[in-house]
Amino acid sequence: MRYPQTFIDDLKRQADIVRVIQDYVQLKKKGANWMACCPFHKEKTPSFSVSPAKEIFYCFGCHKGGSVFSFVMEIERVAFPEAIKIVADKIGMPLPKLVDDGRFEAKRQEADDVIQLNAWALQWWEQQFESSAEARIAREYLQKREITEETRKTFRLGFGPDSWDALSLHLRQKGASQAQIDRSGLVVKKEEGGSYDRFRGRLIFPVLDIQGRPIAFGGRTLKDEDAKYINSPETAAYVKGRNLFGLNLTRDEIRRQEYAILVEGFLDLIVPYQFGVRNVVASLGTALTPEQVKQLGRFARKVVVNYDGDRAGVQAAKKSIEILLAEDLEVKVLVLPENADPDEFIRKFGVTEYQQRRAKAQPHIQFVIDQAVKDRDLQRPAEKAEAVGEVLPYIRPVRIPVQKREYFEIAMSALEIVDVTLRRELWQTLRGDVAESAGAVRRILKRTGVKPTVAERRLLGLLLFSEDLRHQFLPRLEPDDYLDLPTASIFRTLLEVEQEGKQPDFEVLSQKLEDDPSAAELLPMLMISEGNSSDGEESRDPQKLAEDCIDSLRLMKIDLRISELNAQMATADRIGDTERRDSLAREYLDLTRRRSALLPSAEAARSGV
Ligand SMILES: [Zn+2]
Repeated sequence: MRYPQTFIDDLKRQADIVRVIQDYVQLKKKGANWMACCPFHKEKTPSFSVSPAKEIFYCFGCHKGGSVFSFVMEIERVAFPEAIKIVADKIGMPLPKLVDDGRFEAKRQEADDVIQLNAWALQWWEQQFESSAEARIAREYLQKREITEETRKTFRLGFGPDSWDALSLHLRQKGASQAQIDRSGLVVKKEEGGSYDRFRGRLIFPVLDIQGRPIAFGGRTLKDEDAKYINSPETAAYVKGRNLFGLNLTRDEIRRQEYAILVEGFLDLIVPYQFGVRNVVASLGTALTPEQVKQLGRFARKVVVNYDGDRAGVQAAKKSIEILLAEDLEVKVLVLPENADPDEFIRKFGVTEYQQRRAKAQPHIQFVIDQAVKDRDLQRPAEKAEAVGEVLPYIRPVRIPVQKREYFEIAMSALEIVDVTLRRELWQTLRGDVAESAGAVRRILKRTGVKPTVAERRLLGLLLFSEDLRHQFLPRLEPDDYLDLPTASIFRTLLEVEQEGKQPDFEVLSQKLEDDPSAAELLPMLMISEGNSSDGEESRDPQKLAEDCIDSLRLMKIDLRISELNAQMATADRIGDTERRDSLAREYLDLTRRRSALLPSAEAARSGV
């Protein structure tokens, strides 16, 4: 599908390159050429020049250059045929028919019809907003939101009167057929035949495509209705998830700033825009799609996600991060305090405060980690495993190796994974495909979780073996001593059985351990070896041995905490949080003291001496 070469040559001759480029950059005449600050790279003194005689442009700074078509392709981020269309459009040259099949033509005709009807509707809604008495409610609403008349005009907000057919009548007057109206999405068809206006008594937000044509609408209720927003259905001109709200107005600023702020709703874009934050796009409630990200990616490779801070907003942000990463964009996340959205926040605290927060937006990995550790206790292996499983999917898609490794290291220290072997194995899982590695992570974390230590095995063995020892030691155990051990449920069960005054035989125990199969699996091994000291330690006092084992467990716990503290102190150092560092250091000191007190007996338990 392409245009005839004769047409392209013709167009090139007729298109004045200065006039076309003038639409995008302000050119100043300098000798035979025209100069400007380059739209493709940041600069303060002009090095971008256009030669009308040679019909070319060239930038001495970034060395971009070419014909009028290459300029349009670059600045609009479109393919060649689209650039032809745009240039032809600008100079008012009719396009020749493409070599094409009729179905495509019919579809395009239908799309053009929908856009024409949308344009009529929008004009009418804008008039209604400005002049109808009924629209006062809409005018007051915008006033309350501090949206100026200038902003309203920029975004072409309108008002749909509360009538079942006023818009349809207007469209028919304009010359639309009923069939066209039915296909436009502007009305709702009734089952019994006929139709009525879709947007009634609502503030209208038009969704404009990148060329500024109205392809769909959102209507916000101005009363207390259940549906706060209603939206256009899909039509020949509008497919959900293909467009980003605001991009037609904000793309140049996005290109200039080299990043975009991604928000959720209409007003989350309109309000920042009004206050001068103009590198924003909105995904409009529906989940962000790869198509939208590809479109955005043409203008910038960095995105700051700024959704609501509530639960739904956080979920939506995480979903968007995945899509953005998969398209190779760099992502930061801005969460405003008190779950505020950008609209509320800027009106309440001002744009300077907003920009300051935006500058401190966290890298996506930090946001994901924060969410994963929230409401989880990392001291518990199962919860730690869940947190790791939740974070790794946001590291896997990162393609730049150095970056990926850095994110991984940040995650490992934040999640307090100190074991080097474990880290290495988790790193390995980031290479395979997604489904496989999720399973691998679970296996790795589980395996390292369920291996009981020597002290644990000995202590359980002794307790299972001797009623005397049970009476003596079970009451002395504190929940903290065994809570995090893979054999925690065996300890708990022994306590239960002891309190019930029963004998802990295999049947009783395994029944009670039904809920924890991995602990139940250990049971036969523990019972087989109970009191069966093959390594020549009959001479050792079982009582002393049990005590040493408890000390050893307490020591292990301390050691684990110490290595976590090391990681946390390093993090605190890195971010310069001296207060936290000091409090961690105090805990560290206290633990090392307790450690040396426990050391001798714990060593004894481990070595069996
Ligand atoms: Zn340049």
